Amino acid sequence: MCKRENTKPVYAGKVKIGGGGVSIQSMCNTDTIDVDKTARQINQLAAEGCEIARLAVNNADAAKAFAEIRKKTHIPLVADIHFDYRLALLCVENGADKIRINPGNIGEKSNVLQVAKACKSRNIPIRIGVNMGSMEAEVVKRFGKTAQAMVESALYNVGLLNECDFDDIVISLKASSVKVTVDAYRLISKRVGYPLHIGVTESGTLHSGMIKSSIGIGALLLDGIGDTIRVSLTADPIEEVRAAKSILRATGLLHSGAELISCPSCGRCKIDQIKIANEVEKALGKINKNVKVAVMGCVVNGPGEASDADIGIAGGDGCAILFKKGKIVRKIKECEIIDTLLKEIGDM
Ligand code: SF4
Repeated sequence: MCKRENTKPVYAGKVKIGGGGVSIQSMCNTDTIDVDKTARQINQLAAEGCEIARLAVNNADAAKAFAEIRKKTHIPLVADIHFDYRLALLCVENGADKIRINPGNIGEKSNVLQVAKACKSRNIPIRIGVNMGSMEAEVVKRFGKTAQAMVESALYNVGLLNECDFDDIVISLKASSVKVTVDAYRLISKRVGYPLHIGVTESGTLHSGMIKSSIGIGALLLDGIGDTIRVSLTADPIEEVRAAKSILRATGLLHSGAELISCPSCGRCKIDQIKIANEVEKALGKINKNVKVAVMGCVVNGPGEASDADIGIAGGDGCAILFKKGKIVRKIKECEIIDTLLKEIGDM
């Protein structure tokens, strides 16, 4: 199996994909033709931690808008193209940092050659984005709608690019089934060393989509598979970025920023644990410091169970104990919890 440390690095702008590390992607849900709205969304995504943004380019006007959006944004932009190779060429001209296309669905070999040549001349990688619903008919006929079929489809498309002497390739194999998706990525990681863009497609709304994505992406990341991730959600793309960061943090791949740990609370808890934990989490979102913060419901188990936290509180009756690395520092009032934590973190 080719683990992420050993995949071939390619570059979307300054962001390395492959050869170690995992970058976060999202996709705009604005009309690409609306330059201001799309650029605003990309900049909001970037502020939230998105490292690469993808835009749908479905016609010449969108390809033209791409150039304007490029000028108003700073993170790498991926042009998402289906069928029309001329749009890919236009986007290469207009500053795309990466192209998502399936060589098998842009027609004749000369079309593939033109796109490969244009991308190569500017060091732009191409993502072969195989989806369960958009595989070549012959592949489906031979392998059915299976993980194996997605792998074969990707390898067929890789072959087309390799024939054009193009090798800066990223592959994705997305299905709405978590199991099929995970199987497909595991299979392809045994066949090629290209970096993998991982995600579960059409995973659903915020809650269910986050669960499916966390299981699928999480399982792969823990296997050492996956070089860039997109959490597809039927929600504001900002939520995709937040979810991606949480998945990376939960799998031990993101160490920056403040992390909250909190107990579920039980009958021993005398503070408003749910409200306080949510308020602390919101406040931590604005902190740019590597710190682990605990909000625990009671002093019986709180400081001990959260002794790996840098700082935390454990609830009492109308009050709380402030602790650092499991050691009690002092007693504070319940209404002082947020301010005290923020001040102490600021002083750390
Ligand atoms: S820390 Fe205390 S309140 Fe929270 S779950 Fe454990 S025992 Fe219950």
